[in-house]
Amino acid sequence: LFAAIDLAPRDPILGLNEAFAADKRDTKVNLGVGVYYDDAGKIPLLAAVREAEKLRFEQAAARGYLPIEGIAAYDAAVGKLLFGAESPIVTEGRLVTAQALGGTGALKIGADFLKRYFPASKVLISNPSWENHRALFESAGFEVGTYAYYVSPTDGANVAGMLADLKAAAPQTIVVLHACCHNPTGVDLTADDWKQVVEVVKERNLIAFLDIAYQGFGDGIDADAVAVRLFADAGISFLVSSSFSKSFSLYGERVGALTVVDGSKDESARVLSQLKRVIRTNYSNPPTHGGTVVASVLNTPELRKLWEDELAGMRDRIKTMRAGLAEGLGEKFAFVTRQRGMFSYTGLSAAQVERLKEEFGIYAVSSGRICVAALNSKNLGYVVDAIGKVVA
Ligand code: PMP
Repeated sequence: LFAAIDLAPRDPILGLNEAFAADKRDTKVNLGVGVYYDDAGKIPLLAAVREAEKLRFEQAAARGYLPIEGIAAYDAAVGKLLFGAESPIVTEGRLVTAQALGGTGALKIGADFLKRYFPASKVLISNPSWENHRALFESAGFEVGTYAYYVSPTDGANVAGMLADLKAAAPQTIVVLHACCHNPTGVDLTADDWKQVVEVVKERNLIAFLDIAYQGFGDGIDADAVAVRLFADAGISFLVSSSFSKSFSLYGERVGALTVVDGSKDESARVLSQLKRVIRTNYSNPPTHGGTVVASVLNTPELRKLWEDELAGMRDRIKTMRAGLAEGLGEKFAFVTRQRGMFSYTGLSAAQVERLKEEFGIYAVSSGRICVAALNSKNLGYVVDAIGKVVA
């Protein structure tokens, strides 16, 4: 039956992790990952999460099915985090949020929903983008192209090119936008750039799908929501996929959400009914644990404060590592401190990345992407030294 089935291409990052695991050198460093590590090189379990888990454990609640769209208190908290509690979108109910299996699950629900109503639309992702964006939208049946985004480490974003590509797109083209902490480049747009993007999306009648997987990892919870809120202010309908994988360090619990902003409360009810249809036929309803924990943290003032402090700690640590790289490597690498989030496009060539691996046991993606959040006070000096040698 399956004799003729081809082997699917391997995930390149998985291969990197395997090679890293097999490397015997004790100085080895894995900068290829997409995970935040603390200064001890561990994935943190946040104190706010631990507290919420204790409460949950003590309550010993039964594990019935959740509603298809997830926990109501969770969905409401997501909307407020994205748009701000006072946003008219929130107060007028012009949104629906469905708990999802991480940011990936949210993108997939959104993609399937859009395919049903806009079957002829094309999808545009940034060049470059998180590699799963293309695969996800293609698997939902869309043709996926790219819009210009990145120039070089020193020149940052190609705003003019991006705007030109969006202006040339057909109406109802779905445009996937990294709301903050662009993966893989670390290069973000400014608020003024975003205003221009919003203008073009509105003018050309494009469908914006904002992906925010790192809210709070750039400059702060509200600062990182600037793109989402500019779209909200524009009075148009759009979609947002969001994730707590990084901001709560809950990768394996799969906690994310799809939010659809629409024109009225009545429209919201109809959109929700269709999202539920997509979810019901995929996995029926989301799991209880992660959503319960996140809702409890976001909705309990003391836990919320604790989480915001811990989130600030992660954000500041990344910035400290960025500063350390720039300081150690000199003026040529000053761009690293202008990039945001976990990742940096370093400008290292594939050959230089290969040398890092062969000579120093430092693993990075061949595009030159490194995970700054995998640096720490112990390995920073070694990495700086090694990069200095391969770029000399
Ligand atoms: N979008 C982007 C841009 C990401 O980088 C990631 C995770 N690496 C996701 C979505 C998916 O996040 P999750 O792990 O919550 O599915």
